[in-house]
Amino acid sequence: MNRYASKRVASLGTTVFGEISQLANELGAINLGQGFPGFAGPDIVKSAAKQAIDANQNQYAPPYGIPRLQQAIADTYQRAYGLSADPGSEVTVTTGATEALLATMLGILNPGDEVVVFEPFYDAYPAQASFAGGSTRPVRLQTPDWSFDPDELARAFNERTRAILITNPHNPTGKVFTEEELDLIADLCQAHDAIAITDEVYDRIIFDDAVHVPIATRPGMRDRSITINSTGKTFSMTGWKIGYAIASPELTEAIRGAHQFITFATATPFQEAMATALEDALESSYYADLKSRYTALRNTMKAGLENAGLPVLPASGSFFLLADAAGRGFEDDVTFCMHLLREVGVAAIPPSAFYQDPSTAPILARFCFAKESDMLEAAAQRLANLSQAPAGS
Ligand code: PMP
Ligand code: GLN
Repeated sequence: MNRYASKRVASLGTTVFGEISQLANELGAINLGQGFPGFAGPDIVKSAAKQAIDANQNQYAPPYGIPRLQQAIADTYQRAYGLSADPGSEVTVTTGATEALLATMLGILNPGDEVVVFEPFYDAYPAQASFAGGSTRPVRLQTPDWSFDPDELARAFNERTRAILITNPHNPTGKVFTEEELDLIADLCQAHDAIAITDEVYDRIIFDDAVHVPIATRPGMRDRSITINSTGKTFSMTGWKIGYAIASPELTEAIRGAHQFITFATATPFQEAMATALEDALESSYYADLKSRYTALRNTMKAGLENAGLPVLPASGSFFLLADAAGRGFEDDVTFCMHLLREVGVAAIPPSAFYQDPSTAPILARFCFAKESDMLEAAAQRLANLSQAPAGS
């Protein structure tokens, strides 16, 4: 018991990503746990950051983002999804999607308010809602296709519901929500005067014929949606933490009310460089190339897992695959992932960390395939030695 820790943080524990990465380092395992690209981002983006630093663009940025980046974000969403946003009053640059999510929760929730989330959920959401005095109400995505029961979703909305948070494409399942599913959610938002927060950090990493649709573009949703994204995954620079929120002026004002006292502003040279990244991607084949690169990596990972006798669940987006470990004789996903780490030398995330009651989670393991293909092949070789659970595990 840490006598200095507030009740707010004492109950949170340590994030599963930190724990698994640390163990992977200690044990020399191939780390397919925490989600971050194992390859470098584009050279022009790196050069743009160096140039901005050398040009002494190193003082505070305007609190809501440098105008060039706000404009590039608005242009990007307009071009990709037909969503128009006024850069000055509707686009806010934040320190990663993480800060955009926190500023949103602090900006729109009152104590006692609820946010509906799909379970499994990204682990930051309940913690962030609780910082704002609110809580999350999970609705299950069900294996194997990660569909949800519309009645269960309808029942989750009540007089305390302030918002629903949709991760789309979804981490950890790789689900991409269909237009029909989004419209069902949209109807509930309108009936209950709730806000749709959408976390779209994997919008450029989708596969086959999947189509990403921001809920903000569905009828009646433009002004009750907060669209959150990050340049971290899209440009393979998660360490720069350049994220953003797009929302109506009124919702933006609420988000900015919190943002100004969380970080005030985000790193200036990296904003300049991400403006270059987005501007360039509008004129080049960057997004198509990213999709083909990830499709090849996804195929390599899938083949490696299947070769190890681990069936892979369907996934249309994100850089994760979930492998089914039920029937391998392990008690739960944590035991399975610890076996992988210690005996096989591959780190994966046990998705029970993304369930309100971890004991109800299916026995799966999440593998991040945002790595060079030789690393995925080395992992596949190790996984081929995977045995059944040792007796007593
Ligand atoms: N949302 C989801 C679903 C994520 O997986 C992550 C982490 N990659 C984030 C938000 C955080 O994004 P950022 O690093 O831009 O804060
Ligand atoms: N979003 C990344 C994941 O899902 C991890 C980011 C983090 O470590 N907070 O693996």
